Amino acid sequence: MSLILELDATGPRIAGEQAERPAPTPAKPANAGHGDVRKKIVPVVKPPAGPSATAWEGGVYLSMQQWRDGAEQGGAILLQPADDVRALADRLDSAALIAVDFHRIGDGRGYSHAFMLRERLNYRGRLRALGAVTADQLFALARVGFDSFALRADQSAETALAALNTFSVPYQGAPVAGANAAREEANFNARIRLLERALTAIAADATRPALASSLSAEDMVITDAIARLKLPIDVFTLDTGRLHAETLALIPEIKSRYGLDIDVHRPDENAVSAYISAHGADGFYEGLAQRKLCCTIRKVAPLNRALEGRSAWITGQRRDQAATRGALEEAERDEVRGMGKFNPLAAWSWGDVLAYAARFDVPMNALYARGYVSIGCEPCTKAVRPGEDPRNGRWWWENKDSKECGLHTNATVTR
Ligand code: SF4
Repeated sequence: MSLILELDATGPRIAGEQAERPAPTPAKPANAGHGDVRKKIVPVVKPPAGPSATAWEGGVYLSMQQWRDGAEQGGAILLQPADDVRALADRLDSAALIAVDFHRIGDGRGYSHAFMLRERLNYRGRLRALGAVTADQLFALARVGFDSFALRADQSAETALAALNTFSVPYQGAPVAGANAAREEANFNARIRLLERALTAIAADATRPALASSLSAEDMVITDAIARLKLPIDVFTLDTGRLHAETLALIPEIKSRYGLDIDVHRPDENAVSAYISAHGADGFYEGLAQRKLCCTIRKVAPLNRALEGRSAWITGQRRDQAATRGALEEAERDEVRGMGKFNPLAAWSWGDVLAYAARFDVPMNALYARGYVSIGCEPCTKAVRPGEDPRNGRWWWENKDSKECGLHTNATVTR
């Protein structure tokens, strides 16, 4: 039996039990230490065959198609990863419960379903996560609007309740008036059009333009737009040698999803060896100078090599990511490198990024499902709490104002 936990205005509570199918093989963290993750193997998680549950406490779950064929007042829908939840737009009011089936741990499509239901379709009823759901995911699930969770039998209720207790403000958003929702949708559509126009103009005007992708959600959005529009813009990434396995797993996923070969640039091995001899592999914890030197060797120098021979580069930076990015412009001049620098998502919110990812089914780093918001190298990145500054998850032992890796601190002027 799986345990049902629910979250309401008074906090989390155990609401009952539910029969479950055998769980899929849980994924183990592929890089538990700080070693070179390129040598680690990304685990393959076999999804269960068919839905993870057939019944809820009020009866039998209906598939999305069954619901559309004849919605029952007070019934429950079980959504599968491939379902297009927009088809439910006019059929949500009578549902007592919508459950989202996670076939594998951290499946981004389940998060996309939740975002679409809560933010775009204005669904305010109970939203349950079931299937491959673990206690350490609950925090991130609650953040995107889930308020009911079917925990696997082997999960600790105490751990789960503790995780949910820290989520003290459950999703209780006031219903958005129809006019506001329509206006938001129009604004979002306009944002996408502006992004497409900006990328098209860069492709037409620049010499060998490239997206410098950290494989973040923002960079995945831009990658998706480049691929959709078939633009002649290169995409490259910097494999520092200290990235999470979950981040590196996106490289083959981009290849299979878009047919795009990403150029991977790595640090100079001699420079890395010299750093390790002088400061130790994790010398960056010892002080700002050591940290910046590590970033210079593993990130900045490879970036400079990757940008040689180009007249423009593109980033996924947004203004609200950090105090240091508040004045970010969409188009800048990188005076140090003598080239154009474009930040086409500068005005986007995190919600815009998630909405885009949901609309176009963009592959996302599985770490977002575990509370990570800003993702860099594994030893310098950690998850944050809801409402916490995302940059608290990066170089948390340093002063707030020093939190840049050197990729974006070159003297620039607005174009
Ligand atoms: S983020 Fe950390 S590990 Fe990565 S290059 Fe910078 S200091 Fe080194």
